[in-house]
Amino acid sequence: MNSLRTRFAPSPTGYLHVGGIRTALFAWLLARQQNGKFILRIEDTDKDREVEGSTQHIIKCLISLGLDYDEGPNQPGPYGPYRQSERLSIYRSYAETLIKLGRAYADPYSKAELANFRRQAAKQGSPFLYRNHRPSSPPDWKYGSLPLRFKSDPKAYRWQDEVMGNLSAGEEAIDDFILIKSDGFPTYNFAHIVDDYEMKITHIIRGQEFIASTPNYLNLYEALNITRPLFVTPPPVLGPSGNKKLSKRDGAKDVLEYIKQGYLEAALLNFIASLGWNDGTTQEIYTVDELIKSFSLKRIVKSGARFDERRLLWMSGAHIRMLSTEELTKRAKSFWPKEAIGYPEEYKIRVLSLVQERLKFLAEIPSLTRFFFVDLPLDPSLIDNNPKLSAIGKPELKKLLGIALDSLAQSDFSLGDLQSNLNSLLDVTGQPPGILFSLIRIASTQAPASPPLAESLKLLGKERTLKRIKQQIGAL
Ligand code: GLU
Repeated sequence: MNSLRTRFAPSPTGYLHVGGIRTALFAWLLARQQNGKFILRIEDTDKDREVEGSTQHIIKCLISLGLDYDEGPNQPGPYGPYRQSERLSIYRSYAETLIKLGRAYADPYSKAELANFRRQAAKQGSPFLYRNHRPSSPPDWKYGSLPLRFKSDPKAYRWQDEVMGNLSAGEEAIDDFILIKSDGFPTYNFAHIVDDYEMKITHIIRGQEFIASTPNYLNLYEALNITRPLFVTPPPVLGPSGNKKLSKRDGAKDVLEYIKQGYLEAALLNFIASLGWNDGTTQEIYTVDELIKSFSLKRIVKSGARFDERRLLWMSGAHIRMLSTEELTKRAKSFWPKEAIGYPEEYKIRVLSLVQERLKFLAEIPSLTRFFFVDLPLDPSLIDNNPKLSAIGKPELKKLLGIALDSLAQSDFSLGDLQSNLNSLLDVTGQPPGILFSLIRIASTQAPASPPLAESLKLLGKERTLKRIKQQIGAL
């Protein structure tokens, strides 16, 4: 058993988007690959920002994607509890240690006084540093009344990030930050350091927004005499334009939405892993096991990763094509159109195998398959909006369909016979497939797209096919 321990430490402040899941995924992949542990820690110390239901949502997302955690809420482990709001006494005891060491003090200033210090600094054109205003004789700290601040030891730092390489900052990056707020809750800056240490975390994988504060963290690690975990900072996930961070406006959906739409979990994980990581080969489609095997921190890139939903669609289709008939049938269960009710399982399986090639996500099943179950109403726009067909003119189309009808009426509707029947129709009419087959397809399905024609007609059967073609002729 390896002692590698990673954690995902979300704040319950809303839904989990792709960027958050990527952090979780990288931490999970590393833990699974190295036989380590993956911990979920809920960082719920900012009561003002908390959104009700988020913790349940986060857990549901992780579990739905198969990112199971070894320790966390509802998954007891040796270093719990795993919700920060249940660990207040632990932070308090660390705070008291820091006070004893002379490295923490009560902050006596009112909001107005602090604002005044800021104004002074702005006037002088210098950045505001709290430590320039340390009270000469701070009051005793009373838990739950005054904020407690860290007494920093300003110095320049150089440090190593497993992705970003060598980073550095001057002593101006160090300040006396708040450890415990006046409401008795710790800040992220303090709590995560205590928790990562107490929970024996070996790798901190988190977003870029924490790099600027890292010198402060290093200062606190020193004060507590703690050896820090490794820092792993993946690149930001960028919107489709590639020049700014992915936002909700770019369609950064709640991950559960994708699952509801029938994107396969494996496809989502494949896609999310590819945002800022590659294994250096040309392989793009990975199963989850392959991701676990191939993942490596060394191959996380530094530059931003672009979120391209079309790529997700493509990957999702590729993963659907990899499903066995049984798996696809099982997963399709809740996606059938209501018109499929009552059809035998065996017929539905044949429908599925026909559309499997072109399915991108399972919620497409109704629109791609409805015509196999019910006669759709005639849709004139299918011909009118098809430039090649509308150029021919309705009388001619009607004539062509008449020829097709007579010819198909001779077929036994076996696949081979349908194929040769359709091919001979090309010779007889002198029309290209782009015209003739489109016309027959529209007439027999009334759908904008369908699986290959002969296969579709075979499954529809002779009676339905001929009836639909006749109806179309009548409408022309
Ligand atoms: N609670 C922090 C957040 O949600 C987590 C940062 C971390 O992973 O340490 O942004």
